[in-house]
Parts: sequence; structure tokens; C-alpha cells
Amino acid sequence: MAGERMLKFVTVERDMPEKRSADVRREDFREIYAEFAAEKAAEQASRCSQCGVPYCQSHCPLHNNIPDWLRLTAQGRLKEAYEVSQATNTFPEICGRICPQDRLCEGNCVIELSGHGTVTIGSVEKYITDTAWEEGWVEPPKPAQERTESVGIIGAGPGGLAAADVLRRAGVQVTIYDRYDRAGGLLTYGIPGFKLEKDVVMRRNAQLEDGGVTFVLNCDVGKDIGFDEIRSRHDAVIIATGVYKSRSIEGPGAGSPGLVRAIDFLTASNRKSFGDEVPEFDSGELNASGKRVVVIGGGDTAMDCVRTSVRQGAKSVKCLYRRDRANMPGSQREVANAEEEGVVFEWLSAPKGFTGDPVSGVMVQKMRLGAPDASGRQTPEVIPGADYVEDADLVILALGFEPEELPKLWDQDDLPVTRWGTVLAQYGSGATDLPGVYAVGDIVRGASLVVWAIRDGRDCAAAILEGFDRNRAVAAE
Ligand code: FAD
Ligand code: SF4
Ligand code: SF4
Repeated sequence: MAGERMLKFVTVERDMPEKRSADVRREDFREIYAEFAAEKAAEQASRCSQCGVPYCQSHCPLHNNIPDWLRLTAQGRLKEAYEVSQATNTFPEICGRICPQDRLCEGNCVIELSGHGTVTIGSVEKYITDTAWEEGWVEPPKPAQERTESVGIIGAGPGGLAAADVLRRAGVQVTIYDRYDRAGGLLTYGIPGFKLEKDVVMRRNAQLEDGGVTFVLNCDVGKDIGFDEIRSRHDAVIIATGVYKSRSIEGPGAGSPGLVRAIDFLTASNRKSFGDEVPEFDSGELNASGKRVVVIGGGDTAMDCVRTSVRQGAKSVKCLYRRDRANMPGSQREVANAEEEGVVFEWLSAPKGFTGDPVSGVMVQKMRLGAPDASGRQTPEVIPGADYVEDADLVILALGFEPEELPKLWDQDDLPVTRWGTVLAQYGSGATDLPGVYAVGDIVRGASLVVWAIRDGRDCAAAILEGFDRNRAVAAE
């Protein structure tokens, strides 16, 4: 009986795939978790209580049908589990690896809420799709029938790629323009290999190409080609450019050599992992080897910088964050991983300036949390007289990202943007006020998550297809 295989959370303890020891994983950029063995995946999936109202599903941005694919995995019906899983998620193996599950599906699992430890949803999702790749079940988006309509997508990150996949499967002619030399956006050049190995991303890019998606790489829209030109080539255009303007810092010494932006540091490191020539890495400018590194920030980007520094052979790695551990935006799981790897966190510490030229230290102000602000978050306040200098040879600024000024860069005064500079697009479809122009992912939401970019890309593609079908129906009347 199918039901007998489930509800095992009372007798079977929560277990994650094996994690490589900190000493070993500090030495390379490979992922830190192993794969579940088949029996282990089935056993862990069988802990699910098959809720009638599954909170895991409602807290997954893609509304993945989690209980169904857990049941099928527990029953050993993996191909069907994969079919169900890929029906709502374009890149399940990527989400299984890098979604902050503790804040999404797993954090809302009823078993977790009842104190038994969540079902390990992300690891099972990864296992199902990695198995599907091994077994050859993952099909390229080759349509049964071609359509004449064409869509141009600016940006080959998860938002753009997810839209491309849906459109291409429906037979649309899809061209993706990206200023980088490889597709994948932050999956390729932002997120380090120890969270997401690069061949996982590259095989998706290859599969889209195989399915007939045209990639125009090394093409910076606004410089190498105008936005109007792209609009004139396609029936619809999707803006999926992400957010890349790094927030800067002020104070004495803020322009000194030795202060670098997180995105530059991580991109250089990822390029090195691909075997590319990276002069700024070889010169030491973007290389933590042998240095006392201080990373400023408390988000996921800061966590990736500290752990990359460890792997590059830094002498010491510290992370300064102005609030405390409970109030940081980054995932607690990543903080724990970083601590295991030897990173020291200095909570309630804010930079006031920098000493030396090149930099030799960070002037730190100690903080305490005061009264809540309008958003309910406690505001950090300076503790007078508690300043000190933290020694540093390399300071990495991970203070968040803002959108580039697209209307100006692309000479598009009519492109509607919010007061934060994100593109103003309709919820659900991504449609902007410019006819035939849509926008998805971080450029609409501000710095967000891969799973939300995928959701936007899929929804936008569906809306575009509906529009194409409507136009055809009108033309046929
Ligand atoms: P992006 O992935 O940023 O892709 C945008 C693409 O557009 C890029 O390839 C860029 O080259 C291209 N582009 C931009 N402008 C132009 C132009 N003018 N012409 C041509 N091409 C252009 N999210 C998670 O869910 N889990 C994580 O663990 C996680 N870790 C992260 C770690 C770091 C260091 C960072 C920076 C982000 C992380 N995120 C994480 C967030 C996640 O990566 C983003 O939310 C997601 O990639 C957004 O997808 P996107 O498609 O909107 O944009
Ligand atoms: Fe959880 Fe992310 Fe998978 Fe949704 S996509 S089930 S949030 S890991
Ligand atoms: Fe299963 Fe937990 Fe989802 Fe309930 S909330 S269906 S127990 S994974």
C-alpha cells in the first residue's frame, strides 16, 4: 500500500546527505554535500505526512507539488517523481541545491513545526533531477511544431533562461542576448562552485542551445546593440538583466586600494574555476591568498565571499555585520557552514573608515540594537567609545546590489521604473507599459532569489504565449 510507505517521521530521523568535513572542503570549490543514495532518498521522502493542505507547497515560490514527488520517490517511482517535479520547475536540481529552504518549503513543513525535523525537501528534489540527468530523462526543449513568432530576451540568468525554456518548448523562436561570454547570469559568475558546481549550469545552457535557443553572448545591450534594434527584431522582448550596481561605502580611506566589490571578487574566482585568464586575480588584487580578509555585509553574497576567501587560502577571514546573528539577512545554514570552515563573525560591528593606503585595517564601531524602525526591525546604534581597528589586507564590500539605470543606459525614457530603479512590471505577467516589452527576475524585484526569477520567467513566457494566441485568433477572424 502506497500509504504504508509514508508518515515515517515518528520512527525515521531527519538526515541530510553526507557533508564533507570542513578540513577537506576548505581545499576546493566542489559542492559540500554528497548525493543521497537511492534507499536514503526513499527513506527520507517517506517521512512526509502527505498533508491535505501542504504548507511546504504554498511556501515554495513555484508551488511545487512536493507531497506527490516525495510519495513517488518513497515508492521508488523516480521517473514519475521527475515528471511531476519538472512540471512546475525549470531547474529543480539548481533549486534543490541553492534555495534557502529553511525560509521557504522546509521552514514551513508541518513536521518541522511539530518538532520532528523537516522533510529534507531540497535534497530529495536535487536527487530526483540529478538521477533524471543520469538516466537521460531530461529532454531538451525541442518543440513538436515551430511557430513564426520570435522573442528576444536580454539577460541569460535564471529568469531569462526559464522564460526561454517555456517559449521554446511551445515552438517560439528565441534569442537570448547577454553581455557575458557564458550564459547563466549569477548562477555562472556569482554563486560559487561549493554551492552550485558549474557543470550543473553549463549542461542546462547546452540543452537550451540543443533545443534551438540562439545565444548571442558578449553582447552588451545599450553598447553593442541598441534596445530599439532588439525590439525591432522580435515580436516581444523580455528584460532579465538582474541588478549589478554594488552599493558603495563612505568614510575615510573608502577609495584605498585593497577595497574590492564582492561581485568582482566572486566573478574573478568563478572565472578562475573555469580556467580563464584573470589578470586581476593573478596580480593579487582579487585574490585572498595569504591575506587577512575582512568581508563587510551579512547577506548571502557576504557568506559566499568569506567561504571563497577560505578556499583561496586566506590567512584569516572575518565578517563584520552591523546587526546580530538573529537579524542577519543571510541563511543561517550558510553561516554555520562558514563557521565550520573557520570564518569568524563579528556581530554588531559597522565600518567607519579604513586605515592605510593600500588598506591595512578597518575602523570598526561597535553597535547595539535600539528601538524598532517603521518596518519593525531594530535599528543599530553606535556604542560610544567602543571603536577599534580590525587588521585587514583585503576588504570585500558585500553591501547589496541596486539596478543599473536602464532608461538612461538604453536611451528609453518611456521604460517605466520604480523609485528604486527597478523596472515597473505587472505582477504575474511581467508586462511593462511599453507594448511588447516584459521584465522578470531581479530587475523587477530587486536582489532576490533564483527560484523567484524562475517563477517570473515561466509566468512571463505563459503570458506572452497567451498574447500570441490571442493575436492569431484575431487575425483568423
Ligand atoms: P541574473 O542572474 O543576474 O542574470 C542577469 C543576466 O543579464 C546576466 O547574465 C548579465 O550578464 C545580463 N545582463 C545584464 N545587463 C545586460 C545588458 N545590458 N546586456 C546584456 N546582458 C545583460 N539566490 C538563491 O536563490 N540562492 C542563493 O544561494 C543565492 N546566492 C547568491 C549569491 C550571490 C553572490 C549573489 C550575487 C546572488 C545570489 N542569489 C542567490 C540571488 C540570485 O542569484 C538572483 O536572484 C538571480 O540570479 C536573479 O536572476 P536574474 O535572471 O534576474 O538575473
Ligand atoms: Fe523548496 Fe526551492 Fe524546491 Fe520550492 S524550488 S521545493 S522552495 S527547494
Ligand atoms: Fe510533507 Fe512536510 Fe509538505 Fe506536509 S509540509 S506535505 S509533511 S513535506
